[in-house]
Amino acid sequence: MSDPDCLFCKIVAGDIAADIVAESDTAIAFRDVNPQAPTHVLVIPREHYQNVGEVAAAGDVDAGDLFRLCSEVAATEGIAESGYRLVANTGAQAHQTVFHAHVHVLGGRPMGWPPG
Ligand code: 5GP
Ligand code: ZN
Repeated sequence: MSDPDCLFCKIVAGDIAADIVAESDTAIAFRDVNPQAPTHVLVIPREHYQNVGEVAAAGDVDAGDLFRLCSEVAATEGIAESGYRLVANTGAQAHQTVFHAHVHVLGGRPMGWPPG
């Protein structure tokens, strides 16, 4: 399933360019256009779902695939040992701005807690 008006569906389709760093059968990983850390990669399912909760509820994409690709990205980016943060903003109050499920992989600098 794909949404013709969705920015990330267009990246999956190759209609909008992105710096893709890893791929699996069900997900792709590409660099965020506005990086918030030395490593800032977005991991998204190829199929269109509004958020990671919808991915999990739908059941036809293994949500574990998203996390495996996040882990692979962390390893290839060299941040697996130093540490990294996975973020899935869900809904307006959590600052979700693109409504195609995605997990941010952030690392390469110390990060504070709690998040803003
Ligand atoms: P959200 O705020 O929904 O959690 O994250 C959406 C992310 O998508 C933002 O960090 C934003 O910088 C990134 N983004 C928005 N448009 C594009 C784009 O066209 N290409 C890429 N690579 N990232 C984008
Ligand atoms: Zn989409």
